[in-house]
Amino acid sequence: MNQIPKIEAPKPKTLPLKTAVIRGMKKRCPKCGEGHLFEGWNKLHKKCSHCGCELLSREGDCWAFMYVTMGAFIGIFLIWMIFFPAPNLYVGFTLLFILVPGSLLLTLPRRKGIALAIEIWLSQ
Ligand SMILES: [Zn+2]
Repeated sequence: MNQIPKIEAPKPKTLPLKTAVIRGMKKRCPKCGEGHLFEGWNKLHKKCSHCGCELLSREGDCWAFMYVTMGAFIGIFLIWMIFFPAPNLYVGFTLLFILVPGSLLLTLPRRKGIALAIEIWLSQ
């Protein structure tokens, strides 16, 4: 007898994307919102201390989001410099070589938290 295999509907995502992203932005575990993501400034914990969600093993899946946000930062700054040019070249280069890397560096943990939240949301 031929039996028709059952096709199951995909499970609904229990964790809302907005909640996960906000938790990631706050550098908390996107799944439970309790455990800290980082043990230092930018080093991920291996697992969440509260719910045991794998964190470090997912770090490699975040590179695309990190590149896109880095490009967006640089693009926004370059467009800003077109519409609001610096008074002279030295001020422009100083802004470019201090403001852009500085803002990228300062936002790195939060961007990584958001990337991790999206990755966890996609994989649930
Ligand atoms: Zn957790």
